[in-house]
Amino acid sequence: MKIADITSFITCPRLAYFRIHFGEDRPSEYHAAREIFLSLRKGLGYEWAYERFTSLYPGSDEVFRDAASKFIYSKELEKIEPQDWEVFFESERLGLRGVVDEVTKSNEFVVLMVKKSGEGFTFRERMRLAAVSIVSGMESGYAYYAFDGVLRRYSASRRDKYNVLRILEKLRRIEKGFLPERKESERCKSCEYKESCETKPSTFLSRFF
Ligand code: SF4
Repeated sequence: MKIADITSFITCPRLAYFRIHFGEDRPSEYHAAREIFLSLRKGLGYEWAYERFTSLYPGSDEVFRDAASKFIYSKELEKIEPQDWEVFFESERLGLRGVVDEVTKSNEFVVLMVKKSGEGFTFRERMRLAAVSIVSGMESGYAYYAFDGVLRRYSASRRDKYNVLRILEKLRRIEKGFLPERKESERCKSCEYKESCETKPSTFLSRFF
């Protein structure tokens, strides 16, 4: 299970089902912003980020340009000393894995996000950060909102960790083939699995998920 499966689940449990079973990596402004963040933190600049992004997603120049025009590098980031980047962590016990964007010299994590939605963390953001904390063993860290230029501190609470485990239990069932009930929302309009979703009926049992 990937940390990204947890955030997909919170967006829509069915989306997690489709991504786990038929997922493909599509270029997005988030992916481009992440490359820019990593490249600037390593002192390599925008050009390098562009090379990395377009070698992963050929023909996605426009996505990169859009992300680059919105990206803000805050002075706040200079207060944090990086130790390493793109560090892979895995918990065999929990069957959870993920890549942490940056690990700092003070043994904290930095996770890239794009736009903040308010003054505090959303549930989805907290679950993502708590999952990073669980898998890496680091109790605290930061989220960096690249299009707002805002660095926000996070410390994992027991409640957040507990909720991650509850979501993992549900994801296990989805991984085994359980299809959650369809939940119509705004997200459906732009969902890459809209067609498949509409043709897959909900089962009686999925209502109790
Ligand atoms: S179409 Fe809607 S209900 Fe179906 S997977 Fe996408 S977001 Fe979820």
